[in-house]
Amino acid sequence: MSRKLLVMFMAAMLAVMALAAGCGNDKAASTEKVLKVGTNADFAPFEFQGEDGKEYQGFDMDLIRAVGKEMGYKVEISNLNFDGLIPALEAGNIDIAVSGMTINEERLKKVLFSDPYYQSGLSIIVAKDNDAIKTFKDLEGKKVAVQIGTTSAMEVKKLSNVEVKEFNSSADTFMELRAKGVDAVVNDRPVNDYYIMQSGETSVKRLDELLTSEDYGMAISKNNAELQKQVNDALKKLHENGEYDKIFAKWFEAKK
Ligand code: GLN
Repeated sequence: MSRKLLVMFMAAMLAVMALAAGCGNDKAASTEKVLKVGTNADFAPFEFQGEDGKEYQGFDMDLIRAVGKEMGYKVEISNLNFDGLIPALEAGNIDIAVSGMTINEERLKKVLFSDPYYQSGLSIIVAKDNDAIKTFKDLEGKKVAVQIGTTSAMEVKKLSNVEVKEFNSSADTFMELRAKGVDAVVNDRPVNDYYIMQSGETSVKRLDELLTSEDYGMAISKNNAELQKQVNDALKKLHENGEYDKIFAKWFEAKK
């Protein structure tokens, strides 16, 4: 074989190998279906990052991993601001938002929701020595911390004469209360309760009043009704096979 022929032969071999490798990759990618999940991982016990700052933990995270497994999808989680979740769905950057998100009219105009998977509601936290605030109405004339884009923010703004301070995360609202920058925090009750229990915080107390009754749903893009159906089927399965109850007990019952 001449030198020229040999070079041509080797080039052809390389081209074939590259093509084969390319095909292989395509095949692997198409068999592994990925579910891109968006969450705001600062909402314990629903979603938060462990001590090492890597692993996503919480009720929602366990539930969506179980849903993904049921559907045969690999779950990939990314951490976004809460008010960036619906825009991320609309832009197609994520497939599903799982973030303690309440199903409500306003959001239903923009996204689809799965069937409700957790019943929640809002409650108030104040400083332990605060006797002036006993009910929601008492927040009038006061400073209140809420998380941006949440049902708490919407609810508090219905009152007149309230100074609403909005923060990116619920952790920031708690910090503001401890720093006495506000008189109260309004937030989802299970998150308020978990904060008081986990932090061992004794300078604050929760009020018993439940301001609203809300259902959490997983949000999905309007043009992905197929995914909504798959997720609802998976949730149904997890209710039937006891997996949902196990995850629920892990985060809510064992800790009481
Ligand atoms: N459930 C509330 C809402 O949907 C708060 C959710 C959150 O802060 N992650 O607005």
